[in-house]
Amino acid sequence: MLSASPAVSDPPATPPPAGQDIARIPSAAAKMAIVIDDMGNTIQAASELLEMEVPITIAIMPFRRYTKQVEQMAVAAGVEIMVHMPMQPIDYPHTNCGRGALLLSMSDQQIINTINSVINDISAAKGLNNHMCSAFTQDPQKMAVLMQQLKDKNMYFVDSRTTTATVALDVARAYNVPATKREVFLDNTPSVSAVQSQLRLAVKKAKMQGSILVIGHPYPETIQALRMTIPEIQDQDIQLVYASELCR
Ligand SMILES: [Zn+2]
Repeated sequence: MLSASPAVSDPPATPPPAGQDIARIPSAAAKMAIVIDDMGNTIQAASELLEMEVPITIAIMPFRRYTKQVEQMAVAAGVEIMVHMPMQPIDYPHTNCGRGALLLSMSDQQIINTINSVINDISAAKGLNNHMCSAFTQDPQKMAVLMQQLKDKNMYFVDSRTTTATVALDVARAYNVPATKREVFLDNTPSVSAVQSQLRLAVKKAKMQGSILVIGHPYPETIQALRMTIPEIQDQDIQLVYASELCR
């Protein structure tokens, strides 16, 4: 498994001169982290993703039917795991966010207890990202309670950015939690060709920026598009990395 510390990653083949902007690092150094959310509901998707034998970060939901099995499979394969943390959506309770969710009505202690029970359920996780949350990630006080817990547990945070009003990344920085954000969703349109287009868009952005984090879901179309397109991505000198490697 790749280390959680970005400090040990390989330097680019041609190191840029000191002070050079990351956007101008040669494309050979461009990195892409692919995160697949909503894992833990089936075994099938986990098997298919792990069979690809490339670094894909598996974000597992707590207390699902196959949470433990998917975690064990990912650990055995040496693949990085995140907690995919349910948080209160804007239209709660119309939309149910499932067991283990962080709600705005919770006291700080209830938030801490919920986070601890979820992280105990997925104890191999190195980081955490948010599921469906729009309301919770807009609340700086509640997010601060979460970030303090991640700091204490040495975990990183990925902001899924399900709302543009999110304060999550700012709060993570304030608490010195290594963090990054999702830039491309792969499968808002869940067809193989649409996911392939999103992957190619992500390649372009990675080459311009030096790195990118994308999020998809365990739909058959997404998995098929990854299977078809990952060799093409690697041929373009994009290095696939785990989410931890893009957090800073
Ligand atoms: Zn989700």
